[in-house]
Amino acid sequence: MRRILPSGPAPLHEPTFEGNELEYLKQCIDSTFVSSVGKFVERFEFELVDFTGARNAIAVVNGTAALQLALRTTGLQIGDEVLTPTLTFAATAAAVVHAGGIPHFVDCDEECFAFDFDRVADQLKSIVEFRSGYCWNKQTGRRIHSAIVVHIFGRPANLESAQKFCRDFRLELIEDAAESLGSYFGGVHTGRFGRFGIFSFNGNKTITTGGGGALLTDDDDLARTARHLSTTAKKPHPWLYEHDSVGYNFRMPNLNAALGCAQLEQLPVLLERKRLLYHRYAAALDSIQGIRLIAEPAHGRSNFWLQAIQLNRGDRAVRDQILQQTNQNGLTTRPVWNLLHEQAPYSRFPCLPVSTALKLQDSLINLPSGAGLVAQE
Ligand SMILES: *Cc1c(COP(=O)(O)O)cnc(C)c1O
Repeated sequence: MRRILPSGPAPLHEPTFEGNELEYLKQCIDSTFVSSVGKFVERFEFELVDFTGARNAIAVVNGTAALQLALRTTGLQIGDEVLTPTLTFAATAAAVVHAGGIPHFVDCDEECFAFDFDRVADQLKSIVEFRSGYCWNKQTGRRIHSAIVVHIFGRPANLESAQKFCRDFRLELIEDAAESLGSYFGGVHTGRFGRFGIFSFNGNKTITTGGGGALLTDDDDLARTARHLSTTAKKPHPWLYEHDSVGYNFRMPNLNAALGCAQLEQLPVLLERKRLLYHRYAAALDSIQGIRLIAEPAHGRSNFWLQAIQLNRGDRAVRDQILQQTNQNGLTTRPVWNLLHEQAPYSRFPCLPVSTALKLQDSLINLPSGAGLVAQE
């Protein structure tokens, strides 16, 4: 399938459709199964299981819904706190609030930008106590239910540290792997270290289903519950409408899964091309003083979802000057997300000291990263 190149600067991340997308979509239409039942949804889940090695995958409408469902399925109660990085896309914290939780913002680490486990552990020690098997925040009186670890720009966080941290503080580990399909910690796919890992297949992610998401878990009971809740929590019966929980309508439609199946077929090639793009950026930027291209962490394999440079010295004015000059000259660049604890809807939530995130905000710039920038061989 030919892609018609739009004119103008390349966006930060655009999808490529070079395989069976139209064919599978046509099969959906021809079969009339376009909605929440159909063979592509099951096939997409099966192929996600196959690709990641997880025991279960549940396809849902988007990554935010996947995260909300993961929190609810692991027992988040209204008013529980969830340790959430301040440096992440807003959906991470929005999902916590949608699930009835309270984001408790924490700092990220210098190497992975994900979660400063050592520092947060130190900070927590003086403000939490353990009662009846759970971790309680003595300052707020609320239970801390879980920690969400985000694989920022697709780079794998240190998941060994994440697991130890969550064991020490008796928290559920949830991986926001929305950006990290095709990224590994050691040899194991991201999203498999937490009780749940979630993916996004939004249009700007490594592969897309238009809109879509998925949950991964190795726990069959959790998987069954999540799937049940995602499909209105209706008890199986040939005709009766009996529901045993307040469920969600979160199931991925067959049309989206059809697109996903075609995209998954191309994932290995897309990953190769994104890695090649990294090497091209590295060669081009190598001689420029004062910046570094963000490389793969030593402990794993990155999908290079978003390429980024870091200014050696975080300086908001210099960052903004680079953003201005590149965008004016036809190169799309973007700053990292605004920190969540500073944004109006989230500013009332608790926040530990986050000096690394503040520094990174002034020093990170994302570059165009779509696989389409590297021509197919
Ligand atoms: C994209 C993204 C999400 C949300 O996924 P949607 O499918 O857009 O709902 C959540 N967290 C992170 C870190 C993301 O990048």
